Amino acid sequence: MHSLNEQFIDNTWVPSRSKTRRSVFDPYHETLVAEVTRGDPADVDAAVAAARRALPDWRATPEAHRGKYLEAIATGLETRRQALAELSSLNNGKPLAEAYQDLNDAIACYRYYAEAAVALGRRQGTIENNGQPDLEARRYWDPIGVVGLITPWNFPLVSSAWKLAPALAAGCTVVLKPSEVTPLPELALAEIVLEAGLPPGVFNLLQGDGEGIGAPLSRHPGIDKLSFTGSNPVGEAVMRAAAKGVRPISLELGGKSPILVTEDADLELACDLVMAGICYNAGQMCSATSRLLVHERLADDLYTAIDAAMGELHLGDPLAAETDMGPLVSATQQDQVQGYVALAEEEGLHSETPVFALPKHGFFVAPRLYRQVPTISRLWQEEIFGPVLCARRVADDAEAIALANDSDFGLAATVVAGDPDRAEAIARRLEAGNVWCNSEQVAPPQGSWGGMKRSGIGRELGDSGLDAYLELKRITRPLNS
Ligand code: NAD
Repeated sequence: MHSLNEQFIDNTWVPSRSKTRRSVFDPYHETLVAEVTRGDPADVDAAVAAARRALPDWRATPEAHRGKYLEAIATGLETRRQALAELSSLNNGKPLAEAYQDLNDAIACYRYYAEAAVALGRRQGTIENNGQPDLEARRYWDPIGVVGLITPWNFPLVSSAWKLAPALAAGCTVVLKPSEVTPLPELALAEIVLEAGLPPGVFNLLQGDGEGIGAPLSRHPGIDKLSFTGSNPVGEAVMRAAAKGVRPISLELGGKSPILVTEDADLELACDLVMAGICYNAGQMCSATSRLLVHERLADDLYTAIDAAMGELHLGDPLAAETDMGPLVSATQQDQVQGYVALAEEEGLHSETPVFALPKHGFFVAPRLYRQVPTISRLWQEEIFGPVLCARRVADDAEAIALANDSDFGLAATVVAGDPDRAEAIARRLEAGNVWCNSEQVAPPQGSWGGMKRSGIGRELGDSGLDAYLELKRITRPLNS
């Protein structure tokens, strides 16, 4: 067992000021694998000071040069792909194949923003048509400054890549706080960043929980922007903290995303997409499609297919090749999901999903489908963050769209329809930042990620993801001066 009482500040591991530790578990064996510091506001002061000292030189570093560091981080991740996937799987409980997919996504993200940095350099000083015959205007993009990045536990290395890569490309210096539940992959990332040769203070990593690090980081006056991914209550707290000093924020919060299936849909495809949308990462996805809206003519057949597919899943050791679904990340998360299962029983909700024996240890919750869940049920309205699918039959597309949009959240959606144009027409009417038609959930770095309504503010990935760390500046002067 490791004891990790150190913070990564100024390219050096320094002892945390906190004397208290948090336990880090392997959620399959339910064993302690490490103890990490809870963090202390004094750690935040030191990291922010380091990031501020590093900012002038880093922002003056040519964009293409910054891109080279990102490429080096991508190479570092690639070189340790297997070890990192195993570490992520061990700490989070996700099947190894999913952990490899995370690694691919993170590597692709660093590579994408390495190129985006080069492109940013090329567009600096672009002449703008300003409608003034005697004046010339140019556009420049400056880094926002020192940024605080806070991430959750469900996609270690990916959530941090989506923030860190564009922030560094933009010329910002960074204080990253990963989740205290899964600190191990990002601790390994710090070593990779060190190897990549980034100047001291450009990247600082603070371990700890919300109280020790998250809240002090959010309210720290030396932070120029906050980017947060996590739950809605904490997102609101971060937003309140950012209001002091009028500091910009990006928020990637929760979801209760719908999957809509029309009567002409391919049954097998619909079943596959439903399963992937609720069982990947044991349903611990902000974009989990946890509300199924299926046309009444297809409903019974689809329910039967889903129950059969859920019953066939192999739940077990995340590191074993035959495992389809691992445990939930923690006992807390298991309690939360089981609480909803208990509530379903109290509400008399019906599940015909076959119940099978769970592994003898591990924070498992068996996947299940509830049919015809009332829209007033908390199961229908709240983010469960586990493999629990709620379904309703609908009479037509209009009803499906109305029910899909009847949610506080608006992160993602899937539409399965026989006619692709009909699928797209439905997608156009959905209140969601990402809609996948007849295809599985993908989030390539060239795309965009983020939610409408209470699912967040702003977009990550793609150009918008870079813009989130840039300030647009316009310089005007007399023509030919
Ligand atoms: P969480 O909100 O509990 O924690 C997220 C991060 O915030 C952690 O690093 C935590 O230590 C930190 N934190 C806790 N209290 C804080 C405070 N007062 N101030 C600042 N930081 C604080 O979320 P979680 O349980 O780690 O993750 C699950 C949630 O994240 C779900 O609601 C899920 O929908 C959401 N999520 C959203 C996206 C997205 O892209 N929209 C992606 C992944 C997860």
